[in-house]
Amino acid sequence: MIDGRGWACDKYCNAILGGGMADTERETMDFDVVIVGAGPAGLSAAIRLKQLDADLDVVVLEKGSEVGAHILSGAVLDTCGLDKLIPDWAARGAPIKTRVKKDRFLMLGPAGGLRLPNFLLPPLMNNHGNYIVSMGNVTRWMAEQAEALGVEIFPGMACSELVYGEDGALSGVVAGEFGLNADGTPGPSYEPGMVLNGKYVFLSEGARGSLSKQVIAKFELDKDADVPKFGLGIKEIWDVKPENHNEGEVTHTMGWPLGWKAGGGSFMYHLENNQVYVGYIVDLNYKNPHLSPYHEFQRWKHHPMISEVLKGGKRVAYGARVVTKGGFQSIPKACFPGGALLGCSAGLVNLPRIKGNHNAMLSGIAAAEAAHAAIKAGRSGDELTEYNTGLREGPIGKDLKPVRNVAPLNARFGPLGGMVFGGFDMWVANIFKFNPLGTLKHGKNDAQSTGKAADHPVIDYPRPDGVLSFDRLTNVSFSATNHAEDEPCHLKLADPDLPISVNLPEYAEPAQRYCPAGVYEVIRDDDGSNPRFQINAQNCVHCKTCDIKDPSQNITWACPQGGEGPNYPNM
Ligand SMILES: Cc1cc2nc3c(=O)[nH]c(=O)nc-3n(C[C@H](O)[C@H](O)[C@H](O)COP(=O)(O)OP(=O)(O)OC[C@H]3O[C@@H](n4cnc5c(N)ncnc54)[C@H](O)[C@@H]3O)c2cc1C
Ligand code: SF4
Repeated sequence: MIDGRGWACDKYCNAILGGGMADTERETMDFDVVIVGAGPAGLSAAIRLKQLDADLDVVVLEKGSEVGAHILSGAVLDTCGLDKLIPDWAARGAPIKTRVKKDRFLMLGPAGGLRLPNFLLPPLMNNHGNYIVSMGNVTRWMAEQAEALGVEIFPGMACSELVYGEDGALSGVVAGEFGLNADGTPGPSYEPGMVLNGKYVFLSEGARGSLSKQVIAKFELDKDADVPKFGLGIKEIWDVKPENHNEGEVTHTMGWPLGWKAGGGSFMYHLENNQVYVGYIVDLNYKNPHLSPYHEFQRWKHHPMISEVLKGGKRVAYGARVVTKGGFQSIPKACFPGGALLGCSAGLVNLPRIKGNHNAMLSGIAAAEAAHAAIKAGRSGDELTEYNTGLREGPIGKDLKPVRNVAPLNARFGPLGGMVFGGFDMWVANIFKFNPLGTLKHGKNDAQSTGKAADHPVIDYPRPDGVLSFDRLTNVSFSATNHAEDEPCHLKLADPDLPISVNLPEYAEPAQRYCPAGVYEVIRDDDGSNPRFQINAQNCVHCKTCDIKDPSQNITWACPQGGEGPNYPNM
């Protein structure tokens, strides 16, 4: 693996080109396939390409300081994708060791809980045969496998711009621009980055990818799809007392404290080494702008059935990331001239299973196979339509289609009604292979779902106790997040006045509460007058919630320079 700033230029560097920033000259490097993002989707694609043809030139670019640094997942892994990619993964030392031994689903009230018998849950929600893993560690291991096959991996390389050819097809990306001043002018240590060209460019940026969003808009890839939907997942890693640890136990909860205020629920996974993953996912279509997903999660840890596990332990890491929830009907067209959307850039999470890693891997494999066949046939820069069709008709479509009504039913009937009707729809689909409700539409996107502040009660969250629950800034320090202070702000406001002129009076500026890193603040003079919107961009953990949930759609998340953001350990 080569550090982002130390390019291996010998065989690839070609010419000097005009780059994206006016008057910037950039060197170019040519590859067969350029892959943006070293998650399970991008790395699966890279590995499959090299398995198919060792002579293909394949590069993977990753904005995290190392592979895995920005990976946040649950995660209970269904290994079907990895079985296909590297069947002997166990013999190759994959960090996939902890089999699920016990699977519980609890409905929580404020003081107790009810366990739903497993036989009532649709069979697809059964976790037996799956593994509790750190996807950060799994991707680190996948990167080693890819490099052994000859894939070039450049961590610390943020892909900040798309490059199009004269024919309008995507031909490459700009990566590795460093050292801009806060006003966007080149600073003393400015490095312009490079243009990396590919016969095909794969965008595997995960949920709400910043370049993927641009490509979807440019080629109208979502014109026949329903709106995308998301949840915000907030997660901590805890070291717990050995007597409270039950390796292989998986618990999901619904109910308290979120109740019926919004869709969502929690997870608690006991992995190895007396560690427990705890997390909460809140559907971002919630109406009450006073709601704070972060504080719901903190409150949840005080439930007696949760605190009994955490008591006497300590929180060792923190992070947050959005997860796609739109499902089958929200998948945009996944190919476009010159490239493809992979994994959660296309939104491939199975919502009731809370699983997307297997589909991310399967999509990487499928895209690689399509690109390999196309390159062998002498093609480049066109549409990999066979990939797009295979995505819908192959194993990924078969996984997602039967559960496609769960999210719309949750939105229509709330979490309880959604569970009853969604459960019925899934049971019928499971037995009779059709969905009695057809395909339901999502309706509004998550930003449009936000209601007015005056129509919803203010929520009075308890103060964190510093033992089980923590304030946001303390927790952010456990994500090891870092950004240069003198670079351009990567959180772009289309209208800088709008947070105070519109969002504050109408929505009580919800950015103050939905951001799990406390990046957005409304500050005032001592007498409470003169409200100003402040962005503490250096705390951003790259979850992408602001890009999705701002009710005025005024915030665009852009890639900061490479190597910045969180430095997650075994998330
Ligand atoms: C809280 C939570 C719990 C989950 N639980 C589970 C679970 O238990 N089981 C399961 O199977 N799935 C789970 N998922 C879903 C799963 O994590 C995703 O489906 C999966 O991560 C998608 O993989 P990906 O490769 O598409 O994207 P990601 O894993 O998000 O990887 C994308 C990579 O691209 C990089 N990147 C992004 N943009 C750029 C850019 N412009 N330049 C360079 N690099 C870039 C990122 O830094 C990242 O490393 C969960 C998700 C969340 C948030
Ligand atoms: S600023 Fe946006 S992307 Fe960053 S942590 Fe906050 S909500 Fe997430």
